Amino acid sequence: MAANKTLLILPGDGIGPEVMTQVRRIVDWFDRRRAVGFDILEQPVGGAAWDAHGTPLTDEALADAMDADAVLLGAVGGPQYDAVPRDKRPEAGLLRLRKEMDLFANLRPALVFDALVDASTLKREVVEGLDILILRELTAGVYFGEPRGIEVMADGSRRAIDTQSYTEHEIRRIAEVAFDLARKRGNKVHSVEKANVMETGVFWREIVTALHRDRFADVELHHMYADNCAMQLVRQPKQFDVIVTDNLFGDILSDCAAMLTGSLGMLPSASLGPEDGTGRRRALYEPVHGSAPDIAGQDKANPLATILSFAMMLRYSFGLGEDAELVERAVQNALAAGVRTGDIAGPGTTAVSTTRMGDAILEELDRLAV
Ligand code: NAD
Repeated sequence: MAANKTLLILPGDGIGPEVMTQVRRIVDWFDRRRAVGFDILEQPVGGAAWDAHGTPLTDEALADAMDADAVLLGAVGGPQYDAVPRDKRPEAGLLRLRKEMDLFANLRPALVFDALVDASTLKREVVEGLDILILRELTAGVYFGEPRGIEVMADGSRRAIDTQSYTEHEIRRIAEVAFDLARKRGNKVHSVEKANVMETGVFWREIVTALHRDRFADVELHHMYADNCAMQLVRQPKQFDVIVTDNLFGDILSDCAAMLTGSLGMLPSASLGPEDGTGRRRALYEPVHGSAPDIAGQDKANPLATILSFAMMLRYSFGLGEDAELVERAVQNALAAGVRTGDIAGPGTTAVSTTRMGDAILEELDRLAV
């Protein structure tokens, strides 16, 4: 039996604790049935931490996150925290966590499960079998560049300024992750920018091209303008394997790609930090959806986005690709058998509870692992 991995669980608010309960059942299953065990720590975050400790992220939770092999988060936020000062809001806790962990690489897969092809707004033949990964730079670019602000000009009128800025190091490290990931998938990278109109785009292309030539020449590399990429994502998304892009374009393109798959309740994500000397990366795994206050506490939420985030953790933090596939196949099979929560229940299927969806995944895992 391999040494246990330390996993910090941050259930958070709203449906966060409900979906996390189902992941805990799967973690227990792995403890019992596979050669991988987890030492679990749990901390409140977001509104739950504010209620208990008067801060959305305690120093203890942050210290645990920095030390853990991986962090799994549910969701934070809710209308009851609207009046809380901005720097104490649930979202502030999450932002601090991402910043302290230096999570510069955001991975958002867009995977279309066979049983859910019809949930996409696009035609079946366009999305059937789709499996792409959008890699977004998360800690630099125009959301952070200086100078920024709104200023009064000499004539008394005002103007607003944002600055798009990327260092060589920031581009190289996200491109490295892209090429590494591509080697474990379809071996193809589309690097996306606006080199036709932006200096950062020209620079981005130059750095990616040099890195590719020097270290990743075996990976197929394409350069694409961001506007064309948006168009291609809805026209012919299966041409892509890994798309790597900056913070702003990644924000937009990852939402666009996400919707190819149809439902928020199905979308996992991962955010990775830099490698330390031992090859370990800090990592946070979380569903793309929020705390869904409208259905919280009703055992209605779809736990699959969080369960699939756990699968990403197995693959990217622990190199357990086979175990990740096991979870993904269990999800695939449960969906194929017609098990659906309300958000993905189509005509002819009956919506089941969060707990029942968890049961179905465990039953499939038992079946697959015989
Ligand atoms: P949301 O993602 O919480 O919900 C949007 C809609 O999708 C709702 O109708 C909800 O019921 C549904 N939905 C979301 N996840 C679902 C699931 N797993 N199963 C079934 N249905 C699901 O977005 P929102 O309503 O804009 O935000 C609610 C709160 O969540 C806000 O406080 C917001 O700030 C917060 N939020 C947090 C995160 C995060 O923790 N990373 C992300 C987005 C929003």
